[in-house]
Amino acid sequence: MTLAPDTAQDPEAGRWHYCPPSPLGLNPLFSWPPRPRAVLDWYSGAWLQVTALTVCFAIAVLAYVVALPPLEQMATVRPGWIIRVWLMNLVPQIIVAGGLHWWLYQRKGQGMQTKFDPRNLARDNGIFTFRNQVWDNMWWTLGSAITVATVYQSVILWVMANGWVPVVSFAKHPVWFVAWMALIPMWSGLHFYWVHRLEHQPFLYPHVHAVHHRNVNVGPWSGISNHWFENMMYFTTYFIHLIIPSHPLHLLFHAFFQQVSPVLSHSGFEKLIANDTQIAKSGDFFHQLHHRYFECNYGTSEIPFDTWFGTFHDGSAEATKRTRAFKKQMYTR
Ligand SMILES: [Zn+2]
Ligand SMILES: [Zn+2]
Repeated sequence: MTLAPDTAQDPEAGRWHYCPPSPLGLNPLFSWPPRPRAVLDWYSGAWLQVTALTVCFAIAVLAYVVALPPLEQMATVRPGWIIRVWLMNLVPQIIVAGGLHWWLYQRKGQGMQTKFDPRNLARDNGIFTFRNQVWDNMWWTLGSAITVATVYQSVILWVMANGWVPVVSFAKHPVWFVAWMALIPMWSGLHFYWVHRLEHQPFLYPHVHAVHHRNVNVGPWSGISNHWFENMMYFTTYFIHLIIPSHPLHLLFHAFFQQVSPVLSHSGFEKLIANDTQIAKSGDFFHQLHHRYFECNYGTSEIPFDTWFGTFHDGSAEATKRTRAFKKQMYTR
């Protein structure tokens, strides 16, 4: 079912084909007074359904079992295991982004149901590398992002394999193992907010982050379609595993959460639907608003930094006005 945007209330709403009701929800863990029931619903909605979190966790377990070499083998730098780590990153990215792109944009499997932006992805447009949005996004994802992610992960695995940092196991530290896994999305959100705000500074934005923001109307391949320098900053999030005691599975879950979940959140559709049944939650209107209005929603809905620092766009006309004023102020400083 499509929610018709209300243009009488907000003239901007006519630019959306579909949008969820405003104000957008954020993690109620941080609301005051406490709302335990809402917190339970938030976490069960994220972990007990097919969502970015559960898909990424499943890929991490599968990759750990079938692809990641034993830690001992990675103590010496050798091309063989590094190529395996690269393939372990490359293959799920191609399957998830390619699969979603095929279903949503080529086969048009669910038509326009829950599609935020009414437009098609761009072709023959000089803004994009190869003049084509999808090819541009594929190049920056598979060429740049996966390469940088593989280098960083290989360094961390090599350090872990040599015993230079503590490596935990489920058998010996079950509580920490589970707790750290659950906290990784929060760490990711915290790191992302600050790196992302830095990338939006006028001295850096046009040279680096503008590559990601070529995509106002996003698609699955836009998720980690980033400039080299942005990837070098964005993936530093993984180095937390050299500070906080981790297991390689923590790194893998973190990796797929960082690499594959943006594929879903940039899919451009709020839900995946087949035969009129919802298969999974996918798109993220919170971040879709960031791609439309730029200077808002730098973080994720997991930790409400945007609320705390006055950059939250809740989908309302008032928030659009505020965001535009903030952008003007940023560029006239
Ligand atoms: Zn941005
Ligand atoms: Zn984005």
